[in-house]
Amino acid sequence: MNAAASHAGAWQYAPVRDPKLLPIVEKVEAGERLTFEEGLVLYHTPDYNTLMRLANRVRERKHGSKTYFVHSLRLEFTNICYVGCTFCAFAARKGEARAWDYSVEEVVAKVREKWEPGLTELHMSSGHHPNRPWSYYPQMVRALNENFPGIQVKAFTAAEIEHLSKISKKPTLEVLRELKEAGLVALPGGGAEIFAERVRKQIAKNKVKAEKWLQIHREAHSLGIRTNATMLYGHIETLEERLDHMDRLRRLQDETGGFYSFIPLAFQPDANALAFNLGKTEFTTGLDDLRNLAVARLYLDNFDHIKGYWVMISSDLVQVSLDWGVSDIDGTIIEEHIAHAAGATSPLGLSRQKMVQLIQAAGRIPVERDALYNELRVFEAPIASGSRAPRAATH
Ligand code: SF4
Repeated sequence: MNAAASHAGAWQYAPVRDPKLLPIVEKVEAGERLTFEEGLVLYHTPDYNTLMRLANRVRERKHGSKTYFVHSLRLEFTNICYVGCTFCAFAARKGEARAWDYSVEEVVAKVREKWEPGLTELHMSSGHHPNRPWSYYPQMVRALNENFPGIQVKAFTAAEIEHLSKISKKPTLEVLRELKEAGLVALPGGGAEIFAERVRKQIAKNKVKAEKWLQIHREAHSLGIRTNATMLYGHIETLEERLDHMDRLRRLQDETGGFYSFIPLAFQPDANALAFNLGKTEFTTGLDDLRNLAVARLYLDNFDHIKGYWVMISSDLVQVSLDWGVSDIDGTIIEEHIAHAAGATSPLGLSRQKMVQLIQAAGRIPVERDALYNELRVFEAPIASGSRAPRAATH
């Protein structure tokens, strides 16, 4: 047996087939922060098994077997957008037959139509509408809170906040303050894409700049508005650029502690200019998705949650990802349009019961949370700890 294979660490690391992982194993075991170079080792190692075990070690250290989800409704109040991100198949121009643009009354009516008992989170992110006045946005948040007492409105990506700053001619901090007064409780993590300038210029050149995205989240955190962070991967970015993205988030999290979760979003290669220009028709592979989640869990040591977004990587792979560092599987969603416009083949939503079944079938303990990560209900595990239920179809 070689030195690597005979590594005398805890059982969960044996055998370590890639000797380059040994110092990382030691650091993870000691709870030490990984360097950028070590992050790259994780991205390149052929030893998937150890990578999984390392990510799971950290996940279980933070959360045991608990796996979080939220009973949520997703609503896009408009798909009209002038920004022109090349990866986007959701946006429409004003006047196009497929364009929609709800008034405040229509937003309230839509939520009423989709309402389910026990809903806690309303997640909204939408296009950058060229003509809606600033007053529309706080009015909408206020109307939702008045009509659905107790609902938690998590809305407006940092890109949208910058857009609102432009149309209102108010600083982004003021925009955030007024939206908070209207009842906004948290920001989603969208608009981050990939921070690296080289990539951003090609996929989102008219969108909020990386530094501004980070600044808006910094400002939100300073006001007590907690936020989330995404990363769009699987297109033209390099592995170094993925890690650079995480590195910038890790630094901001050190500074503010205001992020709840990190959400890798797999590029959907359908009906968008980027896919067409690249001739790219393939989805990310399952192993790329799982590796990415595991690297995020290990590199983002100051994030509580790494989220497996079932809409983009499927509920089947999300079940597997619970062993690869994932501690949160987002929400029921009920009706998603952004990823599906670009080719996502998952259902538009999942029921609360399906979420629970999906987690339990993976041998984990479902915890229903709200948008602010308060635990609402822990579903008792149906099996003894240490054993796993057989995989079950969930939809
Ligand atoms: S990703 Fe968002 S900002 Fe970019 S074009 Fe699509 S809707 Fe507009």
